[in-house]
Amino acid sequence: MVSKVALACACGAVKGELDVVAGDYFHVHCLCCDCQRYARHLGNEAAMLDEYGATELFQTYPAYMKITQGHEYIQAVQLTPKGIYRWHTRCCQMPVANTVKSAGVPFVGVSVTFMQFANEQETLTALGPVTLKAFGKYAKGNIPEDAHPRFPVSFMPKILGFMIKGRLTGKHKPSPFFNATNPVAPVRTLY
Ligand SMILES: [Zn+2]
Ligand SMILES: [Zn+2]
Repeated sequence: MVSKVALACACGAVKGELDVVAGDYFHVHCLCCDCQRYARHLGNEAAMLDEYGATELFQTYPAYMKITQGHEYIQAVQLTPKGIYRWHTRCCQMPVANTVKSAGVPFVGVSVTFMQFANEQETLTALGPVTLKAFGKYAKGNIPEDAHPRFPVSFMPKILGFMIKGRLTGKHKPSPFFNATNPVAPVRTLY
């Protein structure tokens, strides 16, 4: 089963489309300090973080995501030398998605903030419930009851299975963020 989700930045310059494919994604909250720092860097905490400081992400395969307009407004930052690439718009400082540094890895964490949902119910209907809340030890205030303090070991086999399946089926490409093996825009470092 495949459903489509419209993607757009706050000012409307960047638009795209995402396929939601049953069994090929994780709908998660990341409470880590890097995601919180990134939201502060973009100056967009109100849109990006919930009351605990969680970032809502939809982790899937790059081949399922398309940018249809405004490619020129997309750029990336890296918070730490080994850190992921955090792609965002420069027109309105909206988070777009996170990738690892290698184009060969079938992984993209699409920001739910970049998705066009009218309300939380629409989000739930399209993406299903959040199945993992990770790095709760960095939460603002109390840790949400259903969050793991770090990253649960029990989740590792699922991630590994996802990666292997994505690689075997070639879902690492095409990616909106890499031309062959090169990032589509320069990646700025913040360290
Ligand atoms: Zn914009
Ligand atoms: Zn994080």
